[in-house]
Amino acid sequence: MNSLQDLGATTAISAASETMSSLMSTATPTLLAAAGAVLLADFASGLVHWAEDAYARRDTPVIGKWIGEANLEHHVKPRAFVARGYWASSWDLILAASLVVVGAWWLDRLDWTVWLFALVAANANQIHKWAHRAPHENGWLITQLQRFKLIQTQRHHARHHTGKKDSHYCSVTNFLNPLLEELEFWKLLERGLAKVGIHRRADPTAEAR
Ligand SMILES: [Zn+2]
Ligand SMILES: [Zn+2]
Repeated sequence: MNSLQDLGATTAISAASETMSSLMSTATPTLLAAAGAVLLADFASGLVHWAEDAYARRDTPVIGKWIGEANLEHHVKPRAFVARGYWASSWDLILAASLVVVGAWWLDRLDWTVWLFALVAANANQIHKWAHRAPHENGWLITQLQRFKLIQTQRHHARHHTGKKDSHYCSVTNFLNPLLEELEFWKLLERGLAKVGIHRRADPTAEAR
């Protein structure tokens, strides 16, 4: 009886360990793919933010008033856009993310990672807005997401708003900015563009400080 029980326990342990290792081998690539999609959306948010901050001003054709002026206003009055509604601050990103989804579908590459990328990218400005709000304004859920660093925190985003305002452009997580700053990624990009005659424009809001 004892040896039968031992055999049963050994079989159960070995089945549990097989299930665990099979779960781990399935879960690890899934988690890595999810993290990759989120970080790619974070990078896209940083790339767009950097391009706007470095090159778009009031006199820039087409996007001058809509983007150049809005970004400078955000540097002077960081909380001015906090009162804006969801659609008012996210419609353009939702449109861009929808185009990505349609493009992926057209190329027969639409899977859950593209949906996750699009979902996070479409909400990058909303996450940015939460980083300018106090916990009592954000509510419990958003505050917990920030607390567990699943989305960017107020303290992290504040680094973009100090000094020359030429760093920490990514607005979704706390993880990509330190790496890009360490690599001097944006400065290298600007140096490369300067070589072909595209120069970063002075940020009057940074000079004013
Ligand atoms: Zn900015
Ligand atoms: Zn901001």
